[in-house]
Amino acid sequence: MTGSTATLADVMVSGQNMPTQQVTSLNRMVTFIIYCAPRDDQNLNPMYTAVYGHDVAHTAVTDSASYLTRMPYVVVDADTKKVIWPMPSSHKEYDAIQLVSSTSALHDGQRKVHTLPPIHIPDNVIRIALHVANDAYHYRRDFQLFPWTVSDAPHSKVHIYELRSDLKRRFIDANNLQTPPDNALVAKPNVTGEYYGCLDGDLWLRISHEFTNGDITRLCPPETLSRNPPASTQAQAGAAQQTAAPGNVEQVQVDWLTTLAPIYAAGEGSRSMAPFTVEIGNLGITLTFIARALANAVYTSDSITVQQALRRTSPRTFAAILKAAWRLHIDKLSLSSSWRPMLGSRLHKMGVGLDVTEIDDSAEHIDFTIHNRSHADRNRPFPTSTGGQKLARIYQELIGDAEVMDGAVYTPWVNWVEPHDTHMHITVKDE
Ligand SMILES: [Zn+2]
Repeated sequence: MTGSTATLADVMVSGQNMPTQQVTSLNRMVTFIIYCAPRDDQNLNPMYTAVYGHDVAHTAVTDSASYLTRMPYVVVDADTKKVIWPMPSSHKEYDAIQLVSSTSALHDGQRKVHTLPPIHIPDNVIRIALHVANDAYHYRRDFQLFPWTVSDAPHSKVHIYELRSDLKRRFIDANNLQTPPDNALVAKPNVTGEYYGCLDGDLWLRISHEFTNGDITRLCPPETLSRNPPASTQAQAGAAQQTAAPGNVEQVQVDWLTTLAPIYAAGEGSRSMAPFTVEIGNLGITLTFIARALANAVYTSDSITVQQALRRTSPRTFAAILKAAWRLHIDKLSLSSSWRPMLGSRLHKMGVGLDVTEIDDSAEHIDFTIHNRSHADRNRPFPTSTGGQKLARIYQELIGDAEVMDGAVYTPWVNWVEPHDTHMHITVKDE
């Protein structure tokens, strides 16, 4: 494969009838500049407002504009699949997107901007492509993003505009561009050496990947969970847990592939924003995905379904929260976000984040909404109410879970970071 591509390169170069010495001095550089999707709520995006007026029902990039800091990426020779950035001599598996600035020059509100380092294109490379997010890992690299025949210009600039699919037409017109083909770069009109492409939700869907049954079994092998009887020994007569004598440890065998199956089976063919519930029968837990929980995936794309978003959410996220909930006799959980392509940090884009908005323990009559009262609660102890203390315990369970990323459970109280006033965010380990 490598040999035949090298031959193709040789043929094409010799076809230009250039002596070898000139070929080796092409000295092409490419700089990628990524413009992250702007917020579309609170009238911050005039293109959204032009289409939907003040109807907030179709907002998708809310609360926290998209940014890509620390998102893994590589640049490859699109033909040989060899990595050209990071430089092979660095021995790094991937580079991480770092720089962030912002611009309001694209007529749709403020966008965060990442300018990647200028990449030197080796002379034998004809086409390049990106791999980003989980797809940058060496064992995956399934989807070539923006495969492109590198221009002969000494320094090409490639602009990538992240945006909702339904606002693309308006964005293109407002910026005097032409609609590029899907997953392709085209020359910027009237500017030498500059190119651009559009990154919408549908393209993010292709970059990211579903967690297959094999992935689920590998990441969440079967295990035995155990828990102590409920704290309350004054439970109502007839409560099931009353049959367990105090001090008796209860155990349950969990095959996560089977246990999580109802989650991954939900939402097939649906783009509905209505809330829905999933029963986790063997753990006795009801999961509610609240209204608009999948809004970012659905409304930034033409076709993403609820199920496609759920299947891009790591099984480790669901297993972590279900395990902690079961151990604490929590029987209802509400979730507000799972995989989503363009809201906030890289975590949900990579499927390793989950947002929890409510925990209920029916036996103890606890219905606790995870929402602080004001900024004064940030980085303060959990509330002293029974619900607040239940959250304190689930927080302890989560930070003690080896599959949860160190330091990456955020709450409206303990370990608060922007913008977590309205939910608890859990990050699990990258795959
Ligand atoms: Zn989150």
